[in-house]
Amino acid sequence: MMERVRSGGVRDPRVLAAMAAVPREEFVLAADREQAYADRALPIGEGQTISQPLMVALIVEALELRPGDLALDIGTGSGYQAAVMAACGARVVSVERLPGLARAAAERLRRLGCAVEVIAGDGSLGLPDRAPFNAIAVGAAAPHLPAVLARQLGEGGRLVVPIHAGPAGENLVRLRVRAAAWLTEDLGPCRFVPLIGADAYAPPRRDG
Ligand code: SAH
Repeated sequence: MMERVRSGGVRDPRVLAAMAAVPREEFVLAADREQAYADRALPIGEGQTISQPLMVALIVEALELRPGDLALDIGTGSGYQAAVMAACGARVVSVERLPGLARAAAERLRRLGCAVEVIAGDGSLGLPDRAPFNAIAVGAAAPHLPAVLARQLGEGGRLVVPIHAGPAGENLVRLRVRAAAWLTEDLGPCRFVPLIGADAYAPPRRDG
């Protein structure tokens, strides 16, 4: 897995160390443990997936986390990406809309000793009470650039989010706050499950 992460272009030593330290097999279903270090997304229940390790590494590298940074992770899923962010030294708050996944992730992260606070709820509006953040990662595809989230970044803050780019999938976009202006960069194509919430896509009908 680490070879793939390196050949995929990830260079930041802090991110490489974090990827090597977090046991991905603890975040996948028992039946998929053998696949845990393959560079592929895997199911985690409730129709959701844990992203492929290279994608997680690229997102976390793009966040440019420094020890002590306050970081928001939207779409906890298994908790894997939040754990990698915490292993980079960030204080991480992670929000998951599906209560069952939030509960399982919180329990898993506690058991593994990862300093991540998990909150169940819609993260599409961010966490205004906790802002400003140094970094915000969105682990699901947003329909448009989430201005609500960008407003919760402090000076120098980074937001990394997959944004709908047509039927073929999403573009990973980084937004940076510099002198109160927003600078965006395109980091390349990607594929994510949809972000569902008040400032995102509507829930599927059977989802209640
Ligand atoms: N990064 C995660 C995988 C994320 S999958 C990991 O490492 O395992 C995307 C997750 O986003 C899913 O669990 C989905 O339920 C969640 N999600 C979708 N919309 C959301 C929203 N508005 N707020 C919080 N979580 C959301």
